Formats: sequence, structure tokens, C-alpha cells
Amino acid sequence: MSVANSAVQFHLPSVDRVLRWPAIEALIAAHGRTVVLMAIRAELEACRVHAAMAGGISNAVMAEAVAQRIATFVSPSLRKVYNLTGTVLHTNLGRAPLPPEAIAAMVEAASGASNLEYDLGTGERGDRDDHIEAWLCRLTGAEAATVVNNNAAAVLILLNTLALRKEVIVSRGELVEIGGAFRLPNIMTRAGCKLHEVGTTNRTHLRDYADAVSNRTGLLMKAHTSNYRIEGFTASVDETLIADVAGAKGLPFAVDLGSGTLVDMTRFGLPHEPTPAETLEKGAHLVTFSGDKLLGGPQAGIIVGRKELIARIKKNPMKRAMRCDKMTIAALEAVLRLYADPDRLIQRLPTLRLLARPVDEIEALARRVRPAVAGWASAQGNVDVVPLDSQIGSGSLPTNLLPSFGLRITPASVKRRSGRILEEIASTFRSLPTPVIGRISNGAFLLDLRCLEAEQDFIALFAGAPAI
Ligand SMILES: *Cc1c(COP(=O)(O)O)cnc(C)c1O
Repeated sequence: MSVANSAVQFHLPSVDRVLRWPAIEALIAAHGRTVVLMAIRAELEACRVHAAMAGGISNAVMAEAVAQRIATFVSPSLRKVYNLTGTVLHTNLGRAPLPPEAIAAMVEAASGASNLEYDLGTGERGDRDDHIEAWLCRLTGAEAATVVNNNAAAVLILLNTLALRKEVIVSRGELVEIGGAFRLPNIMTRAGCKLHEVGTTNRTHLRDYADAVSNRTGLLMKAHTSNYRIEGFTASVDETLIADVAGAKGLPFAVDLGSGTLVDMTRFGLPHEPTPAETLEKGAHLVTFSGDKLLGGPQAGIIVGRKELIARIKKNPMKRAMRCDKMTIAALEAVLRLYADPDRLIQRLPTLRLLARPVDEIEALARRVRPAVAGWASAQGNVDVVPLDSQIGSGSLPTNLLPSFGLRITPASVKRRSGRILEEIASTFRSLPTPVIGRISNGAFLLDLRCLEAEQDFIALFAGAPAI
């Protein structure tokens, strides 16, 4: 036996003995035996590695360490944070915040039985899409609609349904990658389709589509290049013309819009984004878009368009594997209903409210919360109110910046303005009881206040935390 092992045997108590310590019995009373046992085992394992070298660990220290582990076990992993990154629809921070109407509908759906797939008129089996299809048709002018888990799934099932073992014609300039994992060419392969790229990166013409059509073609497709822009000597083909080529050959034509807002964003002073209604009007047979991007709803992938094509998608066995749960259906229905009154949408839909928030309102907010943040972080450096630029996020053009305001924390001395100091400041903000997520830019830590609505809670967060 090695020296380290004999030291372990000498110093470490058995699990049974630890369970009988008074401090541990109190933990069992509070949390139950199972989680306490998990924590003791994990702690003894850690001690086997560390204490053997350190020459042992006292009972009191170990009991405290077990209590700490339990505290971590029983606290939720998924937590509320303040998104002060300046990216409104931040994929890593959960994208669209939902309106109270949607939250109430989710709570109701989650709390008990509902007519999710039950026709209350006939008493027969219904379809979960029925709760949202009529609204999607009214809002987009489509004949039919269906919904799956997210837009990546919508594109996958569309391709698999309409072009299995066939070619899909797409412009080279539109082979998009969104957030790393979603790459159109990879989705095509997994959907069982063969990608037929046409044109060049910067220019694709109508004849490129027309020449590519053959008896192997299953679908013509266009993807909205939402997160990048090809500039200079460029050409792309308007949907109406591709629709004509597809129509003449009796082939379907689909457009992946990505964000797909249901209202004209320019009426809120935001950059124009093509809507599903416009895209269908231009002749697209099917349009896919996300529920939790500009639409401002729950994570979902929406497909709208021709009745016969939607019917085929609904019959694909993949639909069963990609269907939305009842909470998504509940939230989506509630959000779509808000669109019935576009004039009040800006007050009622948080995503839109945040995107269209007046810059002077954000500046005034920054001035009001600055003292609390400065009081807490004064040792870290200067806290100033500064103009900033927010982004829409989630694939919307990164070049379309929204003027905003926020706080800039600049490390006290120039010498300390190294990346590591800024990382430490960022980490300190993340360690607050409700983590605050900002961004590092140009030698400072920035908090963009566009997405801060709970002002009093935010101020209290700093007042309650020990200064750093
Ligand atoms: C965001 C996006 C997707 C993926 O949508 P998810 O809802 O995130 O799955 C697909 N295509 C385009 C063009 C997008 O912008």
C-alpha cells in the first residue's frame, strides 16, 4: 500500500460515521437523506485526492464542505440573469422574453389537462396545430400552417418531405451557417437531400436556377441571409422569378426566412425584415421562420404556405419526433393573439418593446441606476454613463445597430486595463445573486441597459451585495 493510501485510511472517516455527526443530521432533516449521502460521498472522494496530501481535514471543516455541496445540489442550474450584453435576442441567454399573456397560458397548460389534441365539439381526437394554425393563416395570408420545435427542425422536415433523395437548388450565396450548429448544407445531407448549388458566392442569376432544374430536382429553395451581407458586385434573384421557374416545372419553392417578423418593422423605426406574408405574396409555396426571434414568442419552427404541401409535412413521421409540447403551443397561441392588435403590440410584446425602446429613456435609466452600480464597483474603477450600440441578435443583421445607453466600467489604472482584469470584473458581475451579463469592449466592461426593465430589483441587487 502506498503512503498516500495509508494516510487516507488514517484521516478520513467512514460515510456511516459522518452521517451520525449532529451537523449532518441537521442537514438530513432539512434536505432528506439521499442528497446528503450524495454530498458526503462526493466530499470524501474530493478529500481522498486533496486531504491525503494536506494531512487530513477536521470534522467541522468537512461538515461545512458537505453543507456547501448540498447548497449547490439543491439550487437550480437554470437561472434568471440580466441580459445587459446589448444583444436583444441572445441565443445563449434564451432569446425572446415572453409577454405575461403567454406566461399565464403556459402555467395554465402545464398545471393540468387541456384540449391539446381533443376536439371539444365532436369529442374526437384533434390536432395540436389547430390551436395556432388559424392565427398563422390570418397573420400571413397562408392557406395552411404547422409548427415544430425550432426553425432548424422546420427546415429539416420541409427538405425531408419535399426532396428526399432529390436535388435541392440553392444559390451559393445563401449557404448560411447560423450560430455554428445550423449549416444549410449539413441539414440537407441529414434530410436525405442532395444540394445543387447554383451561381457564385456573389452573383446568382435566374438562368442559373432554370438551367439547374432536371428530373432529379425536388425543390427550389432560398435562404434569407440574415446574419451576413455580401456587398459590391452582387446579384440575387427575386422570389417572384424563382417562383415562376418552379411553377413552370411543377416544383415546390420554399424560403427559409430565419427571423420572420409578422409585422413591418419599419413602423417601429427598425430595419426592414421580410415578412412571411410578403414572401408568400411573391410566390413562395412555403416559408419557414422561428418563433423566438423577431416574432417574440417561444422557441418554435413555423411553416406556412400551400395546403397540400403542409399536409404532406404533417404526415411525415418526423413530425411526431419534432412536435411542440403543450406549453409551447399555449405560449405561441397567446403571442399570436397579441398580433391581432398591432397598434398596441409595442407595449405588449417585450421583444418589440425592447427593440424599439427610445434611446433617451435608456439614457435616463442609466443615470438612475449608475449610483447603485458605482457604489458597489467603485474599487474596480470608474463607472460612467455612455452611449452604446445594441444589436437585434439571432441572425438579424449585425450591421444594423440600435443606438442605446449604458454603463462603462473602466479599470482604475491604465496598466490594469488588461484582458484579465476585465475578465475578473465580468466574472464578479456574473457572481451576483442574479447574474449580470455584460460585454467587454475597448478596454472596458459594458452594461447595455436596453433590456433592463426591472429597475428597482436591479438597484436592490447592488445595494444588497457586499462591495467588490
Ligand atoms: C435562426 C435561423 C435558423 C434556425 O432557427 P432556430 O429557430 O434557431 O432553429 C434557420 N435559418 C435561418 C435563416 C435563421 O436565421
